[in-house]
Amino acid sequence: SYTARLDRFLSAALKIKRADIRLLLAQKRVKVDGRVATDISQCVGQFSHISLDGQVLQSDVPRYLMMNKPAGVVSATKDAKNKTVLDLLSPEDRAGLHIPGRLDFNTTGLLLLTNDGHWSRQLSLPERNVAKVYTVTLAQPLDQSYIEAFAAGMYFEYENITTRPVTLEICSDYIAKLQLVEGRYHQIKRMFGRFQNEVVALHRDAIGPLNMDLSLAPGQCRALTPDEVLSLS
Ligand code: URA
Repeated sequence: SYTARLDRFLSAALKIKRADIRLLLAQKRVKVDGRVATDISQCVGQFSHISLDGQVLQSDVPRYLMMNKPAGVVSATKDAKNKTVLDLLSPEDRAGLHIPGRLDFNTTGLLLLTNDGHWSRQLSLPERNVAKVYTVTLAQPLDQSYIEAFAAGMYFEYENITTRPVTLEICSDYIAKLQLVEGRYHQIKRMFGRFQNEVVALHRDAIGPLNMDLSLAPGQCRALTPDEVLSLS
């Protein structure tokens, strides 16, 4: 993601000279993320909220990010107790973002962040059948009987639903790859719970055609490329 000086941003957005920008700032007419800007050399991020006289100059720019979510952070924009994934971004980058397709507190891997509600909604439609791929590590060894049970679907009384078929591929005694098209509350943990098998680690590798960028360390983020955005549109 890029950062630029505020004066550069404003001179490009408003087509005015730097000297005039000093004046706008002196008149306290420019805000960055809700705060009156006073420093023309302030760095603004790709996702900053910048306004002049209350008119937003950069807010409808659609933003799409992928994060390698670390364990121990909440996939929410606010949380009273715990750190959220948005807390991992700089204040100028987090404004206006939401999370299509959350992960549990201790689940790691591919998480999307965007300010484009239309994009998130179409991505989350059940009929889109977007496959999510997870690597799961279990407390007890796996066996072939899981494959059938996951493919058949499981009935959950609480929601009165039967899960859609889940493809399970056994990688080793304790590790499997899963592919599912829905995301019910704690679905994977609850499905393994039927076998009294505890999920000790869960990592999302892919959402549809989009794979986790393996160069991102846990907690790091990058913008999606235009092709990546299209691949999920
Ligand atoms: N299923 C779960 O149980 N947890 C997740 O985070 C995602 C899918």
